[in-house]
Amino acid sequence: MGSTEVDYSRLLDRFSRQILVPEIGVKGLEALRGARVAIVGCGATGTFISEYLVRMGVGYLRVIDGDFVEESNLTRVVMFTEDDIFTPKASTCRRHLESISSFTRVDSFVDRLRPSNVEELLTGVELVVDASDNMETRFLINDFSIKHGIPWVYVGVERWYGMVVPILPRKTPCLCCILGRRWVERARRGGVDRGDRCSILGVTITAVALTSAVAVNYVYKIISGDNIEPQIIVINALSNEIEKVSVKKLEECECCVKNNYVYLGREEELVMEICGSNQVEVKPPRKLAIDLGMLSSIREFRVLKTTSEVAVVDFRGYRLAVFSDGRAIVMNETNLEKAEKLYNEFMKYAKRAIID
Ligand SMILES: [Zn+2]
Repeated sequence: MGSTEVDYSRLLDRFSRQILVPEIGVKGLEALRGARVAIVGCGATGTFISEYLVRMGVGYLRVIDGDFVEESNLTRVVMFTEDDIFTPKASTCRRHLESISSFTRVDSFVDRLRPSNVEELLTGVELVVDASDNMETRFLINDFSIKHGIPWVYVGVERWYGMVVPILPRKTPCLCCILGRRWVERARRGGVDRGDRCSILGVTITAVALTSAVAVNYVYKIISGDNIEPQIIVINALSNEIEKVSVKKLEECECCVKNNYVYLGREEELVMEICGSNQVEVKPPRKLAIDLGMLSSIREFRVLKTTSEVAVVDFRGYRLAVFSDGRAIVMNETNLEKAEKLYNEFMKYAKRAIID
């Protein structure tokens, strides 16, 4: 009688083809509608997985990414278009998702997942999907997941190859069990090496699509309460093969046995290289509030594009993406000291636009 009933008939109509699949049905749709999922990273895999989950009818989705869209993303990130270049990935992803379906509530956070914000950004969801591009973020998700008993799905793609690992805290091996002690020891020494942090390798759109589709299947399996085997799923898009490799828990695992969450407790780096993109991110010691619209009135640099969350600026022969919280990404630079110096010089002028 009420509008709920009308909405429900629209819902059944919308998802009618999916409901007809015996393994899903109305029960599967209800499980999806009740699910709350966070996706860390809105690159190739994150946008693919988020779009598929929205189309399948997941109830709540939170997308997290501190980066902005670049033209070189468009070869593999199906969701983004040329109009999206220089916009924040997370909020642009959210807008695309909202236009796909009104049956999903979507939140977006324009920030990188860090030890200082992981509790805030991942609390309130029952499943986390790793669509990041670096091992530090994955270990951070692993620590959070094991500590709070929240399942997560590892997703990685390089060249023609992909890997998906569904991780159910204390039931299946965690990321530390699979990759071993050296990662934990490295974190204790103060960080992972550059070579381990980022893979500056090519990536193919078909490997992204195959791997992301496998990941979505595992997300659905977890949401619907299906049995999850302790396995790594390895995708080879070049030979069109998918292989499952059994994995075992590490008896002395630092994370899921000894409960030492070294990545959660790590100190934050304010200046860091961004994976595979010749960029350095510089973060102010405290969060700022910058009125990005005011930047165009400052004569010492030139503003190329502004949205409410990011401004792209030319300054001293460099291009910077400046976020409203004071974070900046210095493009075409991998030297941390140079990037930090440039940022500090930029902020000398940009401080006129700081409102808080
Ligand atoms: Zn473990």
